[in-house]
Amino acid sequence: MSGMRVALTGGIGSGKSTVAEQFARLGAPVIDADVISHRLTAANGAAMPAIVAAFGAAARNVEGALDRAWMRARVFGDSAARRQLEAILHPLIRAEMLARSNQAEGPYSLLVIPLLFETGQQALVDRVLVVDVPESQQIARVRARDGLSDDAIGAVLASQVDRARRLQGADDVIDNSGAPEQLAARVAELDQRYRQYSQGADAL
Ligand code: ADP
Repeated sequence: MSGMRVALTGGIGSGKSTVAEQFARLGAPVIDADVISHRLTAANGAAMPAIVAAFGAAARNVEGALDRAWMRARVFGDSAARRQLEAILHPLIRAEMLARSNQAEGPYSLLVIPLLFETGQQALVDRVLVVDVPESQQIARVRARDGLSDDAIGAVLASQVDRARRLQGADDVIDNSGAPEQLAARVAELDQRYRQYSQGADAL
């Protein structure tokens, strides 16, 4: 029997990876949409034939994987091309996440989906957990982590839903505005709650 699926989402630099790691330490299976996307577009990845058919051989680097820089430039400002790429990738990512969560051991699995709301994937999961920080902190942490310019960070933020929209769609919220050590207690509490919920669901 497949367990409950919890989506973990939040804006860039909000702390999704940090939080997911803490759930994993408690034994929760973590399934990451970005990791799956990278596998699909690696050499011999399942998305590569369709991508080459749609965009030409230039989309592939010498190793046979997706040429990410080329594709970024290709879809930049071209929404039809971006949609075409998404139409190839999103169903494959979705199917792979479902397959992995169905196979996962344990009462629930955590699906890390950064663009959950942007891609309208809420129906994929039973519960939505949002990692929340003020935008100023998001910017400061991304600057420190990636060394991006404020313009580049601003462009990413503009492409994502805003904080209010995310909070509106949340069943649970993790406040990550404090020190990382402050996350552990809240993660443990949510882990317990998800275990209880999934028992309740099994009893139905
Ligand atoms: P996301 O996966 O949402 O993009 P990360 O988990 O990578 O975010 O966190 C962004 C950056 O901020 C990382 O460098 C991470 O180590 C750091 N970080 C995460 N949580 C905190 C925190 N509570 N205090 C300080 N830095 C943090």
